[in-house]
Amino acid sequence: MVKDVVCTFCGNACDDIEFEEEYGVNLCPLGEAKFSKKDRIKAPMIDGKEVTYEEAIEKAAEILKEAKRPLLYGWSSTVNEAIRLGVIIAEKIGGIYDQCSSVCHAPTTLAMIEQGIVGGTLGQAKNRADIVVFWGCNPVEAHPRHPTRYSVMAKGFLTKGRLDRKVIVVDVRKTPTAYLATDFYVVKPNSDFAIFTALRSAINGNENAIPDEVGGLKRDEIINLAEKLEKAKYGVIFFGLGITHTRGHERNVEAVIKLVQDLNRKTRYILQPMRGHFNVVGSGEVPAWEVGFEYAIDFSRKYARFSPGEFTAVEALIRGDCDAAMIVASDPVAHFPKKAVDRLKEIPVIQIDPHPNLTTKVANVVIPTAIVGIEAEGTIYRMDGIPLRVKKIRDSKYMSDIEVMEKLLEKI
Ligand code: SF4
Repeated sequence: MVKDVVCTFCGNACDDIEFEEEYGVNLCPLGEAKFSKKDRIKAPMIDGKEVTYEEAIEKAAEILKEAKRPLLYGWSSTVNEAIRLGVIIAEKIGGIYDQCSSVCHAPTTLAMIEQGIVGGTLGQAKNRADIVVFWGCNPVEAHPRHPTRYSVMAKGFLTKGRLDRKVIVVDVRKTPTAYLATDFYVVKPNSDFAIFTALRSAINGNENAIPDEVGGLKRDEIINLAEKLEKAKYGVIFFGLGITHTRGHERNVEAVIKLVQDLNRKTRYILQPMRGHFNVVGSGEVPAWEVGFEYAIDFSRKYARFSPGEFTAVEALIRGDCDAAMIVASDPVAHFPKKAVDRLKEIPVIQIDPHPNLTTKVANVVIPTAIVGIEAEGTIYRMDGIPLRVKKIRDSKYMSDIEVMEKLLEKI
């Protein structure tokens, strides 16, 4: 029996998993799928032919050294130690470092640069929150154990469980999370900025500024929702891509940050983005403590420059700026727009990943690695920034991401 294993699937990073042989206790269906036996990349490959690790890493180093502006992308499903080496490699070869946030919570990062954030931990939500708001996110499907471990039903020190908590869900449709709500509000798509602003007017005593209807909510409903929010002894607002990837993007996040700042003049509130992959926070934190920025970082002038929309992977590929790419623990071919994928087909691509995916089909050099949290250990950041050590629970024949990065850096 191996105890206190961290699940390396979603940003919850549940750290109470137990393993007996192959059987994991406490995993949700998403975690079970992660830990079940799946297709693996069998061996290192160059142009579809099996080679040794040494040959594949040599070839990868050669591609990266020869490229004028290589893109190093992915990182959210590996450990901080490997990410750190990736940032150093990007700096040495004058490439671009970008990570999965550039297509999900990047607007949150931009808003935090502008406004800061009234942050906290999932532990604070569990132990204190008597009002939990889910805005534009659906944890029941995306972070299945979030409601029981940290929010809706969690038994905390001060808030003892479901009966002590009000759960408010705001979304454009009735998601499975809405069925857990004490109060559910359906809003019009792309209206979050206007609703946050109206709520701020109500909280700051400017009810007269609120029109009869905002984003599908009547004026009275807005005032009523503001009153409910104010009644919290300790509130937490969780938000997701329903805010970051609708009209307004980072301005929506800025507006909800300001709303939480206003609420903190009357009571206690924290704000928490619902981050997706288990170490997507690390893929931003590590470059931030190495070179000062979280994503969209260009080293072509031998120092770090940050410019979202210019050095983000999709835009850099579509413009044809990158002449090689190294994809680590990610599958951009499955998720990027067609024009960006077309560019990936034209340039040499190195893939470092335990599993075959659509990116494998366009990769010239494929380097299989051990699965983080199962076959390889390291450090990750949970969605709230808490660092956790993930364990190696079984041996494998594969090199870890850290070992591959170390060898690659050595060759470069
Ligand atoms: S909620 Fe996320 S971290 Fe927890 S067991 Fe499920 S997939 Fe794993």
